[in-house]
Amino acid sequence: MSMRFTDGDESRRLYYLPVDRVRVFLLVGAEYNGKSNSITVANSILDEKGYSMGAYRSLFLAAVSLVFAGVMSSSGDCHAWDSRNGNPTRPTHSLITNWAIDSLKDGFPELDKFRDAIIDGANAEVHELKANQKDIEIAAKYGIDLESKRVEHRGTNEGCDDIQGWWKDCHDAYRAGRKDRAYYYLGVLLHMVEDMGVPAHAHKIYHQGNLTEFDNFEFMALSNWKPDFDDINKTDPGFVEPWKYYDFSKDWTLADSPHYKDRNSFSKTWLLASKDERHLLSHRQGRTCNLVKWTLQSASKAMK
Ligand SMILES: [Zn+2]
Repeated sequence: MSMRFTDGDESRRLYYLPVDRVRVFLLVGAEYNGKSNSITVANSILDEKGYSMGAYRSLFLAAVSLVFAGVMSSSGDCHAWDSRNGNPTRPTHSLITNWAIDSLKDGFPELDKFRDAIIDGANAEVHELKANQKDIEIAAKYGIDLESKRVEHRGTNEGCDDIQGWWKDCHDAYRAGRKDRAYYYLGVLLHMVEDMGVPAHAHKIYHQGNLTEFDNFEFMALSNWKPDFDDINKTDPGFVEPWKYYDFSKDWTLADSPHYKDRNSFSKTWLLASKDERHLLSHRQGRTCNLVKWTLQSASKAMK
């Protein structure tokens, strides 16, 4: 389904999607960086290479719409930062979580050892809707009844009302010697902290990951991984209890996006985004990575 060609250290693939009998070609650029890879769809390639012709733009918008429609129809629960069910190629929850693990693994080798469990948890969507069957099956591998836990910890559209409960499950499992289970729960906690890095979540603006109720910022993040790691304007508050980073994440996002009041006004694509919108996306990605690193560090110390 794809052809690959390389340009310097950047790889690109040409994909085609069979849509009825018409084949639609998509140019997708992929930048590989260690274990995590980021894929930037056609708009940023055209943008970076200086193409601004209307035809390319129209082609790109049509292509993005198709990708998005495909993502949305294959999964109704793509929510906040995209997770594995909504974006199997390079879920943002994995990118953020892997970045944090990579930053800390030398000091905390268990993070690398249990990376898969953390990433499984970080991709689980346990908000106000019933958990996805795939997520339920993955959690069952760790001996967890995910749907019961979702209800117990009071999942909400923006996050959950019992973040402390997810941490208690993690800590209890660790002390009982079930490290794989503990790290899965830790992944769920990180997911919630990560979601608070999204303006619509911090502002509690109701949305879903379907075609009619999606949030524009999340739409842009689905295909643009452009974290800014050079403008981190806060330092680690050093919480001993890792769940406290949930509110810290929310407050940081609110400070970054005081005017984010509705899910439709933000641009949907990098190409059409304003400078401020691009900054907000890059800041939120880079700052959320750092915040998750602090959370993970706090949890690793608390579990010892
Ligand atoms: Zn979520």
